[in-house]
Amino acid sequence: MSTVKTSTASALSGAEAFPHRHLTGIAGLQPHEISFLLDEAEQWVDLNRKASKHDDRLAGLTLINAFFENSTRTLLSFEIAGKRLGADTVNMHAAQSSIKKGETLIDTAVTLNAMRADMIVIRHASSGAVQLIADKVDCPVLNAGDGRHEHPTQALLDALTIRRRKGSIAGLKVVICGDVLHSRVARSNILALTALAADVRIVAPPTLMPPDIERMGVTSFTDFDEGIAGADVVMMLRLQSERMGGGFIPSLREYRAFWGLTPERLSRAAPDALVMHPGPMNRGVEIDSVVADDPSRSAITEQVEMGVAVRMACLDVLTRRRRGVPGWA
Ligand code: ASP
Repeated sequence: MSTVKTSTASALSGAEAFPHRHLTGIAGLQPHEISFLLDEAEQWVDLNRKASKHDDRLAGLTLINAFFENSTRTLLSFEIAGKRLGADTVNMHAAQSSIKKGETLIDTAVTLNAMRADMIVIRHASSGAVQLIADKVDCPVLNAGDGRHEHPTQALLDALTIRRRKGSIAGLKVVICGDVLHSRVARSNILALTALAADVRIVAPPTLMPPDIERMGVTSFTDFDEGIAGADVVMMLRLQSERMGGGFIPSLREYRAFWGLTPERLSRAAPDALVMHPGPMNRGVEIDSVVADDPSRSAITEQVEMGVAVRMACLDVLTRRRRGVPGWA
């Protein structure tokens, strides 16, 4: 599989290539900074495919993964990323019910800071919680998903998957379909893919379509058959039932009929269209198993693989200043 780099990042060196202290979102990142992180991740894809997957550049540093909301792949992925880079990696799981906003969250931040963490990864059900913590601590903070707001490492791993499969991202027709209203994955992906010059189309039922979505530089459709026509990439989203207060959809059966990715619907996309899903999947609702499990079309497991590489790149880049890496200190 060839890798074509669309980056201009190579023209910049050291901290100029990525001057940010935290990764709280894709918003605020320049296209060349996004490409820089993708370029950095390539070396970790290669390392992760070797029998021995160790690089000790973060030895002696402490990574705290503070997850206030459930996760399988993101938490494991950050844990594996930290360990492969040699960091002392600890996970803090907090049952959502025990967490109060405001002072409690700030107290948590102060506590993590007092333990002299060198990197803090946060997942939280409230949009903006990660920024609140980033403002209170001395070390880099990485957003592992905050409410409906952003999930930047998901967008980076999706962009890396697309770039590796398709050679480049600019000009590709990418359709993102499903529960856009509640999806931090959709938001971060729209920001990243439009920054990288993809033609992004959003498909959602009217009740799950954010009203001002076209302001983000995308085209919106409520008819999936129309939106998917000729698409190079079809990214499906999970129905976020935990964030729905009421009746957003008539029934799961109807949802599948109108907005589910079935083989018939996929046949309207480009013949080599890539199928993606951030997981966890509701099989038979937003995506049929026959599509999700088709190795010639689906990049879903590759997305998970790219997730570890992207997170290793983010942990490495964000700690260069504190490690005194020349050009970054
Ligand atoms: N795992 C992704 C997230 O945490 C997608 C999802 O849950 O639907 O946002």
